[in-house]
Amino acid sequence: MISQTLLEVGQQPNGEPAQVPVITVEGAPGGPNVYLQANLHGAEIQGNAVLAAFLELCRAQRPKGTFTLVPMANPIGINQKSGEFTLGRFDPISGENWNRQYHFSNADLDAFCQAHLNSDETTIAAAFRERLRAQIAQRQASPWGLKTGQTMALRLQQLALEADIVLDLHTGPISDRHLYVPEYARARAHHFNIPLNILMPSDFGGALDEAHFSPWWQLSQRFAELGRTLEVLVDAFTLELGPQEHLDPAQAGRDALGIGRYLEVMGCWPEGTHQVEEEIQHACQLADYKALYSPCGGQIEYLAPLGQPVKAGVPVARIWHYERLGQDKPMFTEVSLPCDAIPVLHFASANVQEGTELYKFLTHTFAL
Ligand SMILES: [Zn+2]
Repeated sequence: MISQTLLEVGQQPNGEPAQVPVITVEGAPGGPNVYLQANLHGAEIQGNAVLAAFLELCRAQRPKGTFTLVPMANPIGINQKSGEFTLGRFDPISGENWNRQYHFSNADLDAFCQAHLNSDETTIAAAFRERLRAQIAQRQASPWGLKTGQTMALRLQQLALEADIVLDLHTGPISDRHLYVPEYARARAHHFNIPLNILMPSDFGGALDEAHFSPWWQLSQRFAELGRTLEVLVDAFTLELGPQEHLDPAQAGRDALGIGRYLEVMGCWPEGTHQVEEEIQHACQLADYKALYSPCGGQIEYLAPLGQPVKAGVPVARIWHYERLGQDKPMFTEVSLPCDAIPVLHFASANVQEGTELYKFLTHTFAL
């Protein structure tokens, strides 16, 4: 029921293939096709532990459906060490974010919807998926070649686009657990039991979750404009499961249970199979997910505990100016917020220049 193969996602200069493990869980018939990927960003290793814990859930009770698990999805990123740190968020050659290389074009969406206005849902889904396959194949066949990151992303995307559910496991820098939720899937997102949630619009920006929810969501929206109701047939989420450079198998076990509980609702297990202690869950719209940039250079004392609401005007960071030592000037600058907020993550270093993104906050929050 469980097997592993290797997927080639590129070739290194010495001729060695860049490979990622692909684990398939063949569950009982009648469930969805689920794709789970982790560690596309090299330092974000926690998702691998979550996939390991999730595989144990599959062993404990056979699910319905077919699951594809892809841990350590970026063999270049995970091996990109500099001193004691793993870099691995950006392609070191091009500087581009590895998670902005996926592909979707809605150029001929109108024509597709017109052609399928009276087709049944199964026919539409099959034809639309075939169209997505063709888009990727066409891009791969470019006579001008592809960038390293695109080559890798498109081979992963070819696997993922067969799925009804796509879960991309990441982490923040120094970060509380948070979830990117496409607005249409809001009602079922709380099952993941992740405390901080950001509601996403249907735009495509090149990330794996967007590459899967945007096409199907835009299809649904375009049909709605034409007077045809079609639900969004694919769910996709990015789960940010703590800080980078950090492994916490106990928390991974709890997050695997949250994924299990969400998948119960999607038909993979009987409801109630996976028990988790419910966490308080806050949410905001993507437009209200705010970055705070440092007004000056210096050394940072991060004051706001992650995940805890902070009031407007209360200092969230103290920026020390040790170059003033021995002078008659204030030694630090305090930074506060113009509105109430909940800190989600902060920069991994205490040493910053002016304009560094210090924190990200949920603002104008509501219960999920
Ligand atoms: Zn990431």
